Amino acid sequence: MEKIYNYINGALVEPVSAQYIDNYMPAEGRVYSLIPDSDKRDVANAVTAAQAAFESWSGMTVEHRAAILQRVADLIDRDLDALALAESIDNGKPVSLAKVVDIPRASSNMRFYASGAIHFASETHITGKEAVNYTLRAPVGVAGCISPWNLPLYLFTWKIAPALAAGCTVVAKPSEITPMTAFLFSKLCIEAGLPAGVLNIVHGVGPKAGQAIVEHPDIPAISFTGGTVTGRSIAATAAPMFKKLSLELGGKNPNIIFADCDWEQALATSLQSSFSNQGEICLCGSRIFVEKPIYEKFVADFVKRTKELTVGDPLDSNTRIGSLVSQAHMNKVLSYIDLARQEGGAILTGGKRVIIPGRCESGYFVEPTVITGLDHQCRTNQEEIFGPVVTIMPFETEEEVLRYANSTPYGLSATIWTENLKRAHRVAAGVKSGIIWVNCWLFRDLRTPFGGMKQSGVGREGGWEALRFFTEAKNVCIKL
Ligand code: NDP
Repeated sequence: MEKIYNYINGALVEPVSAQYIDNYMPAEGRVYSLIPDSDKRDVANAVTAAQAAFESWSGMTVEHRAAILQRVADLIDRDLDALALAESIDNGKPVSLAKVVDIPRASSNMRFYASGAIHFASETHITGKEAVNYTLRAPVGVAGCISPWNLPLYLFTWKIAPALAAGCTVVAKPSEITPMTAFLFSKLCIEAGLPAGVLNIVHGVGPKAGQAIVEHPDIPAISFTGGTVTGRSIAATAAPMFKKLSLELGGKNPNIIFADCDWEQALATSLQSSFSNQGEICLCGSRIFVEKPIYEKFVADFVKRTKELTVGDPLDSNTRIGSLVSQAHMNKVLSYIDLARQEGGAILTGGKRVIIPGRCESGYFVEPTVITGLDHQCRTNQEEIFGPVVTIMPFETEEEVLRYANSTPYGLSATIWTENLKRAHRVAAGVKSGIIWVNCWLFRDLRTPFGGMKQSGVGREGGWEALRFFTEAKNVCIKL
């Protein structure tokens, strides 16, 4: 069976314990490879390598660093099909989605930050005729990057690209549930000539390998994407050590549809924002609020289109909904559908596990599920389900829908559908979310700040924000 190895000091190595964990292929529900069960000894080796590499990597010209990162991006593009296939096998997502979203976005993360670091500028302030202040930025040192399983290579590179571009060396841990593309990525880094120790990838479980990264005294900055509960525990460990922290956490995002929307766009995009990647995207709009005059028609059309989505083998190009990532996650999603029933919800379509005959018959497939009849305050509408499950609720006024939208502890993203420009601005300002899309969803411009409010996160990634995070600012004041 194929073994995945850690990438430490430029080499692919076994974990110190020589122990491995099973890696499942969720579409078939069977083990297909083995992951290093790394612990604090592997993390310590990775930190030693990263510290040793720091001086030369941070001292290299930014153009030289950028050229190496561009080479990594070129190799991702070259291997796009193989990486998309690996991502689909590891995660259960349709390979067609991985080909157009996950892998191209991973490559553009590398390219954007390679070029971004070249164009990064620091500020100067002229204090009248008396002084000049300028901001001197230097990489923070060894950065710790921890990423989740839903968009494996995309979110992994989203963190390590700015860290490396800023001149940090990195100790990173992908999710133990989807480690394969990070492993393939480590091979590409070797091929691209990334110097030894600059990037170190330690595979293993969160509470052991992840926790060891967060606790390590020589890692001054932690960039984490994952669940809110894990984020809270990471903050509890890192804050007393005065580490820099960037936390991108869970969401329960509102999708607000006004009666004057562009009907076809709102309907088609809402289908995507509900069920893309099996609803396993932190930015999915899992609570749909529809203005009363169009509510009945929207529900009918949305349910009809949901029934047309093909749930099936992720490797089949017609599949729109693949497998959930694990049996445990499938059981969690199904338990939330049961909860919705207990809370009085009506399941208009979906609601069950799907058995796909053939190679996928033991896979973790769940029907796309649409629920109505629930109050905005019930648990189904307050807690993150992270699966192909949406609720639809009616509203009458802007004030009312803002109250509903803002009623959860989360504040990651929101989508607004209206052709009324003034209303779009008003509602965008009123929703307490860090990312607002008007008449679109998941549209990305890498220069913009990305992140959540409330329990959806602290700090911002994207654009200059990420380069600022991975550098430390010093102000130099020169008296004239
Ligand atoms: P988790 O919080 O379970 O895990 C995220 C990462 O943290 C994994 O690599 C995990 O390792 C690791 N980890 C777990 N425990 C610890 C610990 N004590 N110390 C350090 N690291 C640890 O999230 P999921 O992987 O389940 O991802 C889904 C969640 O991520 C959802 O809530 C989703 O909303 C959120 N998310 C947020 C995004 C955003 O941008 N705001 C984007 C994408 C997802 P392991 O898997 O090996 O246990």
